[in-house]
Amino acid sequence: MLIMNEEGCSQEEVDRQVSSTEQWLGPMRLTQDPIQVLLVFAKEDSQSDGFWWACERAGYKCNIARTPELALECFLDKHHEIIVIDYRHPRYLDAEAVCKSIRATKPSEHSTILAVVPRVGSDQEEVSVLPLLHAGFNRRFIENNSMIACYNELIQIEHGEVRSQFKLRSCNSIFTALEHCQEAIEITSEEHVIQYVNPAFERMLGYSKEELLGKELIELPKSDKNRADLLDTINTCIKKGKEWQGIYYARRKSGDSIQQHVRVTPVVGQGGKIRHFVSIKKLCSSNDNNKQIYKISRDDKYSGDIALTESHSHSFRHKNRRKESIDVRSITSRSSDASLQNHRYASMARIHTMTIEAPITKVINIINAAQENSPVTVAEALDRVLEILRTTELYSPQLATKEEDPHTSDLVGGLMTDGLRRLSGNEYVFSKNMNHSHSHLSVPITINDVPPRTAQQLENEDTWDFNIFELESVTNKRPLVYLGLKIFTCFGVCEYLNCSEATLRSWLQVIEANYHASNSYHNSTHAADVLHATAYFLQKESVKAHLDELDKVAALIAATVHDVDHPGRTNSFLCNAGSELALLYNDTAVLESHHSALAFQLTAKDNKCNIFKNMDRTQYRTLRQAIIDMVLATEMTRHFEHVNKFVNSINKPIAAEETNSNSEGSDCECSPTIRNSPENRVLIKRMLIKCADVANPCRPLELCIEWAGRISEEYFAQTDEEKRQGMPVVMPVFDRNTCSIPKSQISFIDYFITDMFDAWDAFAHLPNLIHHLTENYKYWKSLDELKCKSLRCSSDCHK
Ligand code: AMP
Ligand code: ZN
Repeated sequence: MLIMNEEGCSQEEVDRQVSSTEQWLGPMRLTQDPIQVLLVFAKEDSQSDGFWWACERAGYKCNIARTPELALECFLDKHHEIIVIDYRHPRYLDAEAVCKSIRATKPSEHSTILAVVPRVGSDQEEVSVLPLLHAGFNRRFIENNSMIACYNELIQIEHGEVRSQFKLRSCNSIFTALEHCQEAIEITSEEHVIQYVNPAFERMLGYSKEELLGKELIELPKSDKNRADLLDTINTCIKKGKEWQGIYYARRKSGDSIQQHVRVTPVVGQGGKIRHFVSIKKLCSSNDNNKQIYKISRDDKYSGDIALTESHSHSFRHKNRRKESIDVRSITSRSSDASLQNHRYASMARIHTMTIEAPITKVINIINAAQENSPVTVAEALDRVLEILRTTELYSPQLATKEEDPHTSDLVGGLMTDGLRRLSGNEYVFSKNMNHSHSHLSVPITINDVPPRTAQQLENEDTWDFNIFELESVTNKRPLVYLGLKIFTCFGVCEYLNCSEATLRSWLQVIEANYHASNSYHNSTHAADVLHATAYFLQKESVKAHLDELDKVAALIAATVHDVDHPGRTNSFLCNAGSELALLYNDTAVLESHHSALAFQLTAKDNKCNIFKNMDRTQYRTLRQAIIDMVLATEMTRHFEHVNKFVNSINKPIAAEETNSNSEGSDCECSPTIRNSPENRVLIKRMLIKCADVANPCRPLELCIEWAGRISEEYFAQTDEEKRQGMPVVMPVFDRNTCSIPKSQISFIDYFITDMFDAWDAFAHLPNLIHHLTENYKYWKSLDELKCKSLRCSSDCHK
């Protein structure tokens, strides 16, 4: 959004710049002293005379040296451009030794050395020039004492080697200019490998050139839509050979943001191809900042703004998608495990760059930057501004997606637009399905009467790799009751609610019965999976430390009920269909509102299953509020809002406090400010359930594949129905005949998962999840590269 303008220069303009450089380099020598020639001949003869007169004629200055010592001395004095050494009389002059001694000196890199060799008789064989080249000669001149022959030789050298040397020498002055120039300059190869940065660049961004040179700018993660879009814009422009100019938001190594005018110019080189990109960057003044902000409100055509430099720092870290950070040493923590630590650094570094998505985050970054150079009173006032900005509803994600990426745009459209694609006049009514009953299923008597196979299956319930599908199978598709009993017991939920185990059991049964076993994804196994992830997260030290008992009980209940009575169709579908639920909830968070409302209705309907019946009213109201808030947080239209708030209000302050307490030598493990604030606890709980809800890409590969299969099937069934009913197709890519499941998973991970789990991992420390996520992502990528569209690769994929 902050991109001011994009000015493409024409190819002719770039050509003109290139040729003006040539012109400048060419005439440069004309303004210098005449070319200096050194003749090294032990004795004067007609050959040395020939060169002498040739120099005279060409207007060169000529010296003659008779011994190797004098030759070297004379060369070191004058730095001749051309040296002619007599190679014909080894007895008088060891030409190779003379050449080597001169070559051993630094100034000789700009000199052309010529060997005068004897003419070969017609009966003798031509000899190789290689030994001469190895000795340091550039050319061989077959003896010919004609002045014209010598003259021709010398002027050919002038027009060839000597001119090239002049150009190279002038590069030194150009680089000297770059080194002293005020603007930050960066040169990359055609593959965006950084080849040069000047000291102004190092100062502006806070990186040393050793940290930058040789680093490759790799494609940005797709989740950074705005950045990716902007880079696409730039790339499209510069790849056509045009210059690009505009405004970037860059981030220093320290994390501060800066605004820069940037000009990227492609440089055409060998083969007429673009061989380098030169970027010139200048800091924007505060006046410019105001103009930018004005521009934001007037024109949001460019929905993203990032710094190329920021993308650099991304890129360094993204070589293998998961990255080694180079800019995070300022964000320290005290974990002793080095690899964990590294991962946290990497995550934090990403967090500092990822939240640029939302306009509010840009505003916060601008204010942060302004605070740096402000008097204390202003900085404090800005602190209060930041406080307000962080706690009000100003976050809104930008939904622009690239049309070329239908998997992402369909997913985003399907999950985030809440019926915006609704067509008027479509009277399809979703069939109400409130009374699912699974009464034929046997009921466990108490937790102690759990069938042995189930009990055994539940043994490793506290590990992340727990196989929920095996539990689904041994419990005859009732994993939620059994897992719920075990987990709620572990967390002392009955004690907290002051209810009996029998009430809890009945409640779990009622809730599970209201999940649709016929849905391939949104059934009670998904609820059990989310409950499992929730319990797992609640056991993590940092999560535990930030939440109180009520929060934990609320989280477990919310996870259990969060998709109850899910019809296996998306919100958009329900809105398009004009379903009763959509009418009831005004097309807004239809399903989530229903899950939450129904959960409380089912609980209150029958005293036998009312787990809240013995609670004190105030405590119940608080608990109810927390549960509703968490269930509603699973709605995807507000995904970026929840993630951004979490990053700004939890990750960043914790990182800042860790840095401060590190420097003050404190041992405190977590921040009391963060732990005690109810607003922040809300953000943590939302993030917790959101991550638990979509943790399937972070499960071990086999489980991840199974979940991907199930969700795809549910989407396919929706598309089938939309077609059957003549409804708008919400997610056209999810057509069972054409869909690439790997592509859809890559998009889902890129767009929704990576950033969110990086932020969650930075808080909760979950290296195993990140490991699975990385491996699973590679798996989907590898299938996609093989053009495989299904869950696993088969021989059909390659057709
Ligand atoms: P919920 O309906 O509460 O489970 O919300 C999570 C959203 O993420 C749902 O719309 C799911 O369809 C979607 N989702 C979860 N896992 C995946 C996945 N592996 N691929 C695509 N979409 C997913
Ligand atoms: Zn869910």
